[in-house]
Amino acid sequence: MGVTSVPKYWAAPIAILVTMSSGTPMLSCRHDVPAPDRRVVITVDDLPFATELYRKDKVTLKRMTKRLLDTTRAQGAPVIGFVNEAKLERKNLLNTDRVDLLRMWVAAGGDLGNHTYSHVDLHKVDAKRFIDEIVRGEASTRSVLSEAGRPLEYFRHPFLHTGRDPATRTAVETALARRGYRVAPVTIDNYDYIYARAYEHALRQNDEVLAQQIGKDYVEYMIRYFRFYERTSRDLLGYELPQILLIHANVLNADYLGALLDRVRERGYRFIDLDEALTDPAYGSKDDYFGPGGITWLHRWALTRKMDPSFYDGEPEVDQYVARLAAE
Ligand SMILES: [Zn+2]
Repeated sequence: MGVTSVPKYWAAPIAILVTMSSGTPMLSCRHDVPAPDRRVVITVDDLPFATELYRKDKVTLKRMTKRLLDTTRAQGAPVIGFVNEAKLERKNLLNTDRVDLLRMWVAAGGDLGNHTYSHVDLHKVDAKRFIDEIVRGEASTRSVLSEAGRPLEYFRHPFLHTGRDPATRTAVETALARRGYRVAPVTIDNYDYIYARAYEHALRQNDEVLAQQIGKDYVEYMIRYFRFYERTSRDLLGYELPQILLIHANVLNADYLGALLDRVRERGYRFIDLDEALTDPAYGSKDDYFGPGGITWLHRWALTRKMDPSFYDGEPEVDQYVARLAAE
């Protein structure tokens, strides 16, 4: 897909505005309207791993990576992982075991994207420093992809922080486009990492019963999030856009992504890649959000359109015992 130097956030959502202002419902409760064609992209952040407990345990990291990829392959789900290349190093040297984790992704048919070198926060550094982090964060990822004859195409902002002012955002977007990147938005954000922390806590205590309870509750929690973002999409756009799910490369997802994706398929979803999702005109919607939050693109567009406060109601909450365990 072509990349221009014009940041896509500034493109007017003409198709959507026309649809909304004409009053034509794209979805309604009428019986002759088919069920929504639900689609979702699986995106995994903080590669090669997002786990504190196992960060020095190369056997577990390899097993975790294999399990995640076996799951997406068995589900027929395209998957893209976003890399922090600082984590490929140990004591300032490139660690080949960790680069091999990225090779596993590509060998399994997964894609890789840039998530900056050290997960830097655009709301805490200037555009120049952030752009340096983009460049520094692409060397190994680009080379692993090119070994398989594939380009490095996508970028995801750490913390989903895209800049506090138009000048910063434009500088970064322009630099990204010049380097051939497309921004990977997120529509289903969640606190999977809190469940993951609690899960690792249970594993550390060898409490298998507790770990299973957390895994089961995690799947239910994520389904509540799917329901929430299906509703917000319908309220905002009049239809369910192709969703983009964000999860992290942790042991919990390695163990429970299969159960989650089974439930997601039961909701009528099929799995697609970012290229396909981004053809939906919703992703060209205007985004005037420059607040402090790392929020989803659905929320950005809603704030830009000044949706009623009730639009934001009903966001799922983390189970309290999980939040407590994660804080320990
Ligand atoms: Zn991240």
